[in-house]
Amino acid sequence: MRWTGDRGDIEDMRGRSGFGGGAVPIGIGGFIVLLLLSWVSGTNLFSLLGTGSDAPSNVGTSGQIDSSPAEEKMADFVGGVSKDVQDMWAERLGAQYERSRVVLFRDSIQSACGYAQSATGPFYCPADRKVYLDLGFFDELSRRFGAPGDFAQAYVIAHELGHHVQNLLGLNARAAQDRRTGEASASVALELQADCFAGVWGHAASQNGRFQAGHVELDPGDADEAIRAAGAIGDDRLQKMATGHVMPDRFTHGSSAERIASFSRGMQSGDPRACTSSAATTR
Ligand SMILES: [Zn+2]
Repeated sequence: MRWTGDRGDIEDMRGRSGFGGGAVPIGIGGFIVLLLLSWVSGTNLFSLLGTGSDAPSNVGTSGQIDSSPAEEKMADFVGGVSKDVQDMWAERLGAQYERSRVVLFRDSIQSACGYAQSATGPFYCPADRKVYLDLGFFDELSRRFGAPGDFAQAYVIAHELGHHVQNLLGLNARAAQDRRTGEASASVALELQADCFAGVWGHAASQNGRFQAGHVELDPGDADEAIRAAGAIGDDRLQKMATGHVMPDRFTHGSSAERIASFSRGMQSGDPRACTSSAATTR
């Protein structure tokens, strides 16, 4: 993959999130979570948050972070990919498109959708229209899930921004009404559509001469990295890794085969309209 770093769409909260010291705005959701955890673990976890007055100022409002050149390069990469994905949607959707922001955090963060920890993985919050990402996830993707490579990482970013497109177009409204869970649910269909939208960007990014024109450009073989990633984080595989069993009634994102099929549909067609029927045609 060839790319240029750009942090225009990035909100860097790495120095302000987590338990590194300084007061963390935990909100009522986080408050309840901490209360429960304190109760379960028998430790007062609130003491770890600091009070703001006596907390060390090694992190906090200055936004100063302790980072490595490799991590900074990763932040540039996430920004460059986010910009490219969003430029594509802005071009396609015109005035309908409003830019999202990608929030980088460490360990934990308060979003408009509640308190989140890195273990949740990257996510999109419809309430504040932002993507949340801990850069450490990419290590997980590579080591734990066996899906290394820059385009595997780009696929994850494009997938989350796919949820933003769904939000802007109102495509997620139906899922909110649907109480079903598992394989046939509207929420799984939305996830597969986000995979397909990521593929649509992959199609655009694979056109020759794109890098010369200031965009991200894929190298031959990059698509395989994303296909490996889509397969690596399918529900059946994750369930098998965690419990040794596959439970389709608890699927949240679709099986590995479905995720690969959806991504490929977008990648081959380059047409978002090919993604509207993803729910109907994959089962
Ligand atoms: Zn998703």
